[in-house]
Amino acid sequence: MSEVFVVNSGSSSIKYQLIDLETESSSVGGLIERIGEPGEVPDHTTGMLQVLDSLGGGHDIVAVGHRVVHGGPSFTGPTLITDRVESEIDELSALAPLHNPANVLGIRAARAAMPNVPHVAVFDTAFHQTMPAAAYTYAIDAELAQKYKVRRYGFHGTSHKYVSEEAARFLGRPLEDTKTIVLHLGNGASVTAVDGGKSVDTSMGLTPLQGLVMGSRSGDIDPAVIFHLSREAGLSIDELDVLLNRKSGLLGLTGTGDMRDVQEAASRGNRPALDALAVWRHRIRHYIGAYIATLGGIDALVFTAGIGENNSLLRRRALAGLQFLGIEVDDDRNELQSRHTRYISPEGARVSVLVVPTNEELEIARQAASISM
Ligand code: ADP
Repeated sequence: MSEVFVVNSGSSSIKYQLIDLETESSSVGGLIERIGEPGEVPDHTTGMLQVLDSLGGGHDIVAVGHRVVHGGPSFTGPTLITDRVESEIDELSALAPLHNPANVLGIRAARAAMPNVPHVAVFDTAFHQTMPAAAYTYAIDAELAQKYKVRRYGFHGTSHKYVSEEAARFLGRPLEDTKTIVLHLGNGASVTAVDGGKSVDTSMGLTPLQGLVMGSRSGDIDPAVIFHLSREAGLSIDELDVLLNRKSGLLGLTGTGDMRDVQEAASRGNRPALDALAVWRHRIRHYIGAYIATLGGIDALVFTAGIGENNSLLRRRALAGLQFLGIEVDDDRNELQSRHTRYISPEGARVSVLVVPTNEELEIARQAASISM
């Protein structure tokens, strides 16, 4: 049985899964953490060898799929990793300083441990490379933007692609003829407008900071807030980076970044939690409206990721009062707990509202296999 080894490498962790291409299921998976800390696994190379050792024999690994966060403007699909591709990913680190260097550590370790297998990079940004210039261009000095690669890229692309294709399959509709809005609501969150299987707009930007209210990221903000806080509060650029990426969003508004805790507090009548949920919901509805206009209609609205898959109350609240757009939620269907793709809109509704559990590892395995076999 042919398998793809899927690697998601962080700065101090390696998350991995072995995906069987025939059954499309995962036989083994795990996580190595605290790499580089005293008394722990010293580096990614050692960690990778330990992982491979633990897999034991009997596996036929035909490819390794690497999750890479930023593919910049040049990577538009899964890419066979050569030395040159590896350095290009490293060079893109300026655009994703937390993620790309960590991804490169994993790529180096895995290529060294498995030199005879094709390694494929699957980029979070790739699916969004179909966006038209009108959607990805920021209205700033064009030369400066070109020189420093400043534009909207979008992220969670692997998830948005997988989920929008799964939705069309579930609905029995031709992908080319389906207009879908995907709400990926996890710790990080983004919305994508998908027209005929192609991303035409998405809420994240140059980095994953733009768009929805997230666990600890502010999402959309007037950039002048940064100048204002720099001048008036004396915060440095690095402090503002930390403020907006790690101390904002639900965390900034309530003191906790985990949606379950925010909701629990709200259910007790906690004012900041109730207000944070209102901001969170307002932002989602803003994007739903915008993307229906961009798409010129909507066939399917899909919820996915931690919050989107598991929280019926927030799904219902997010869509309340949108009947005039054909968007409705059936309470019984919405309450049903399931790990499968399902309707939450009522029978015969104009817009199919679905929950589709995302599976980024499977999508990475499919894409890695598609170009290496
Ligand atoms: P990541 O972006 O880290 O991949 P996930 O997609 O796993 O994140 O989503 C994590 C988020 O989902 C957390 O904020 C968690 O609180 C939230 N979450 C998971 N289950 C529920 C639930 N039943 N209700 C509300 N939030 C949930």
